[in-house]
Amino acid sequence: MRLKKGLMISAIAAVGLLGLSACAADTSSTTDTDMVVPEFEAGTTMADLAEAGTITIGTKFDQPLFGLKGPSGDPVGFDVEIGKLVAASLGISEDNIEWVETVSANRETFIENGTVDIVIATYTINDTRKEVISFAGPYYNAGQDILVLDGNPEGITGPEDLAGKDVCSVAGSTSEKNIAEYDVNLITTDAYSACLEPLRSGNVIAVTTDNVILAGLADQNPGEFEVLSNPFTEEPYGIGLGHDDDEFRDFINDVLETSYSDGSWDAAWESTAGQVLKLPTPPAVDRYSN
Ligand code: GLU
Repeated sequence: MRLKKGLMISAIAAVGLLGLSACAADTSSTTDTDMVVPEFEAGTTMADLAEAGTITIGTKFDQPLFGLKGPSGDPVGFDVEIGKLVAASLGISEDNIEWVETVSANRETFIENGTVDIVIATYTINDTRKEVISFAGPYYNAGQDILVLDGNPEGITGPEDLAGKDVCSVAGSTSEKNIAEYDVNLITTDAYSACLEPLRSGNVIAVTTDNVILAGLADQNPGEFEVLSNPFTEEPYGIGLGHDDDEFRDFINDVLETSYSDGSWDAAWESTAGQVLKLPTPPAVDRYSN
């Protein structure tokens, strides 16, 4: 089922690409997989990636709905589908994407040291991160929320109720920093999935991060957990790329805008996060100046 949908999305992306390649260049060629290979100005990141025929994308491997390592060994989820749209627009088929696991704390480093070309990993755009990397997007707006045991036995209604209590989140995330303002006893791990056992066993009374990540974890463990559905921050998700690579940032923003209008963003959502969450309206991309 997922595979079929994945193929459908790629087909849509390839069609959408026709419009993009028209402005990128006046010539193009096709590969034996019928992928349109656009021409880009020499020296740009787009030209380098298109020439290499491969792209390395950092994403989460343990977050259902957005990036979860599937039976094939490749991750599945909305972030992954967005990555396929970007790759397709460079003439790179999904088979030629190399997926690398990024956790919250290593995303900037992996971009800076070239371990990955881009990061698409429930990655909030913020000014601190913009000092060392750049962001295309946003392509989705999340908000930080709270996960508790099913039935909410402690009667938690929001972050204020967590003051002085043991709470789990992830190092290097905005979630960690945001919740610290509420004077909680914070226990950090390197991945949100690692917070579930402490919640089950009563070592923490809540897990906090973005609502959509918590919704995926709750959905994966039916009857065990519930999300308060009372978000208390704004978390615009961006695509992380090399600092000040403005041409590449513009290109990815164009890809996102095309995906909003040609139906491929909707299709990416419906086949992944949309299995659990309502189809949102995509946010306007922010072509910020440095
Ligand atoms: N979106 C937040 C962040 O980028 C929390 C989720 C995550 O850690 O991936 O830090």
